[in-house]
Amino acid sequence: MSHRKRLGRLRAEMVEAEVDTMLVSAPNSRRYLSGFSGSHGFLLVTDSDALLATDFRYIEQAADESPAYDVRRIKGGETWLPGLLAELDCRRLGIEASHLTVAAYRKMLSDLDEADEISNIEIEETTGLIEGIRQIKDADELATITQAARIADLAMGAVGTAIEPGMTERQIAWEIEREMRELGADGPAFDIIVGAGANGALPHHRAADTPTRTGDSVVIDMGAIYRAYRSDLTRTFHVGEVDDTFRRVYRIVLRAQQAAIEGARPGMSGKELDSIARKVIEDAGYGEEFGHGLGHGVGLDVHERPMVVPTSEDVIDNGMVFTIEPGIYISGWGGVRIEDMVVMENGRARQLTGSPK
Ligand code: ZN
Ligand code: ZN
Repeated sequence: MSHRKRLGRLRAEMVEAEVDTMLVSAPNSRRYLSGFSGSHGFLLVTDSDALLATDFRYIEQAADESPAYDVRRIKGGETWLPGLLAELDCRRLGIEASHLTVAAYRKMLSDLDEADEISNIEIEETTGLIEGIRQIKDADELATITQAARIADLAMGAVGTAIEPGMTERQIAWEIEREMRELGADGPAFDIIVGAGANGALPHHRAADTPTRTGDSVVIDMGAIYRAYRSDLTRTFHVGEVDDTFRRVYRIVLRAQQAAIEGARPGMSGKELDSIARKVIEDAGYGEEFGHGLGHGVGLDVHERPMVVPTSEDVIDNGMVFTIEPGIYISGWGGVRIEDMVVMENGRARQLTGSPK
């Protein structure tokens, strides 16, 4: 989808939120709406104008990447917002409340307060406005995410199946990162999680110097960044002979995951979808051991909307990409988590990751 189309969507949301000007400060929302990939810049959007304010380093790049925007040069430490707002005749300014720091917000208020060229600008603290638009992926985004998912699958296949007793979590994580970069990834989508043995019971355990031992379950949660889009994939391996506990727990988690993938439908809330997998795990007697949400949207951010958790009112729709990742964590023993990315398509969830499980 062109950035002009995305701007159109934002403008419709701005009417709903009753703001005439929107200040976009979150890097990935800025990139989504403009194509600008630099590390510093702000968008100011009204119903007829779209400005991209950035510093000297990025002027040429911004003009090149963001033809739908009028690029303006700003200087760090200088007050630039009031002048641009006066030019845009802003009365009600929308800000992204979940992204602006308290320090940036205070500076903005005092700049607006002290400026001569403007007065009485109301500030509306919006949340989730652009994140809501970003939930539905277009064909180009889906193609890029599919490639990010493919890189994750290939790296998982190459490394996960080759774990030898004695390899440390850190070694495994590094092998995965190296493999992903060789496959064309720009880097890992997040710090790779490798949880061997009892560490697998900690869902977000970072890879450390713990060696894997025969009998361990090993949870590997990883993903790639490919052209700014991310993937997210978890598989749980077993070092050496598989024991009964592992087999039982693994089957329950897999059954929960399959029930959710097969049961996902547009119109469901994140909460409803979460409950499909949760019920399978609760019925098997491990409800207390599944202590996190079932999944989350994936795109420019590794965790974005829709949220698929017990409290989520986000409504699942065609075009959304999200994870389904139930897990069971037993303190002192370890954990099993199985995570795939799916896209909701023609009323059904289609898997984007496809590592054996
Ligand atoms: Zn993950
Ligand atoms: Zn995830």
